[in-house]
Amino acid sequence: MATGPRCHGSGTRSGYFAVVDPATGEPFDEAPDRQAAELDDVVDRAHTAWRGWRADPAARTTALLAAADAVEAAGSDLATLLTREQGKPLTESHAEVARTAARLRHFAEPGIETQPITDDRPVRGELRWRPLGPVAAIVPWNFPLQLASAKFAPALAAGNTVVLKPSPYTPLTTRLLGSVVSAALPEDVLTVVTGREPLGARLAAHPGIRHVTFTGSVPTGRSVARQAAASLARVTLELGGNDAALLLEDVDVEKIADRLFWAAFRNCGQVCMAVKRVYAPARIHSRVVEALAHRAETAVVGPGLDPASQLGPLNNAPQLARVESYTARALAGGARAAAGGHRLDRPGYFFAPTILADVPADSPVVTEEQFGPVLPVLPYESLDEAVEAANGTRFGLGGSVWGTDLDRAEAVAERLECGTAWINHHAELSLAQPFAGVKDSGVGVAGGPWGLYGNLRPFVVHRPQEGS
Ligand code: NAD
Repeated sequence: MATGPRCHGSGTRSGYFAVVDPATGEPFDEAPDRQAAELDDVVDRAHTAWRGWRADPAARTTALLAAADAVEAAGSDLATLLTREQGKPLTESHAEVARTAARLRHFAEPGIETQPITDDRPVRGELRWRPLGPVAAIVPWNFPLQLASAKFAPALAAGNTVVLKPSPYTPLTTRLLGSVVSAALPEDVLTVVTGREPLGARLAAHPGIRHVTFTGSVPTGRSVARQAAASLARVTLELGGNDAALLLEDVDVEKIADRLFWAAFRNCGQVCMAVKRVYAPARIHSRVVEALAHRAETAVVGPGLDPASQLGPLNNAPQLARVESYTARALAGGARAAAGGHRLDRPGYFFAPTILADVPADSPVVTEEQFGPVLPVLPYESLDEAVEAANGTRFGLGGSVWGTDLDRAEAVAERLECGTAWINHHAELSLAQPFAGVKDSGVGVAGGPWGLYGNLRPFVVHRPQEGS
């Protein structure tokens, strides 16, 4: 869905901002630049709509199932627009749309149960769950649809209304998703607001918002927590990651190399729980580097709309600059690029898939979140040293252990300080599981019933037992 006349060059209309195609680096459309002052009206309307929406769980189920059908019916338009403004290959966009519809279905019949509270007294206590009110959902640009639905599906299923603010890098697909889903819901139950900062900051601080659910970087997450403190709204933060993949001595390198590579490079490495560091036993380190470098060199990089492309561009110019700078600092510190190491000499935000060896352990590409197609592979001598290094950052989102002896691998996975650990794969999530980072990677729990109850508050009623 175009949101206004196409803009050419710098010809963006007043009140709109340009949206850039990362495969060309050129603006191709524009989105409304909503002002913070407009939020009062938006939140008021969300509050009014909440009265009806909270009252009828059966109507909510019907509406959310209809919304899932509508997302699937609009799948082709959504996926094409997503690739255009986000950059990912079209197959990945289709998978994201499918996941968005699946999430709406998953939460459509939430089964929120009244629970008895029993004790010795002659009263009957009952716990009934209540929605919170208007929820602010603020999301990043790497999975605009999937992450938005991870916020609004459980929030709406719980009986809240939602004001959704996408990243200014991916406003168009979210607007289209908003109009598709909203057509199945009563008016103002889901509202998408697009705009540049301070729109997100003001939404997080708005006194009419009862839950701020945020996905994005650690620094912005801290700022959101401070803003939401003004109204003491509930806060859920899903933040950055720097996941380690720890390879054991008995790993079958050739067998796992494809899976490990794509766990790091899917969506051009712009995945919160991508593999961002690999630790390999020193004895097999060079084989691991070689196997990954071969895949990096043979991966097809190109515009996401080209069916041959396996890796698209990075989403935006600052992200490309960050990846370039982390890589340059690693190379200046003595690292060797076994593959890639540079941006591609073509328009758009393309960076060659890069495998780095001999990287200093204190290089930012190891200690920070590169969020791009660059993977350092570090050797280790002892397992204890590797576990300590894997746990040695401020992040704690996910981690994985790779080896042939599954019991041994699982015992090592137990030692990882993170929210989700995998054996012989990485970053595959079930809709039913809790999703929560530790340390700087997050506050609160999303996913499954935990995500649902994160959008509800307990309300307890006591009444005397009959006859007492
Ligand atoms: P970001 O923190 O820059 O922006 C996230 C969102 O916050 C955007 O909508 C942005 O416009 C908005 N925002 C910016 N400043 C704000 C402010 N002061 N107050 C309120 N909102 C503000 O993150 P990004 O660059 O868009 O996304 C990449 C980051 O997101 C990475 O760190 C990645 O790991 C993280 N991420 C985490 C998860 C997870 O589930 N843990 C999932 C995806 C991405």
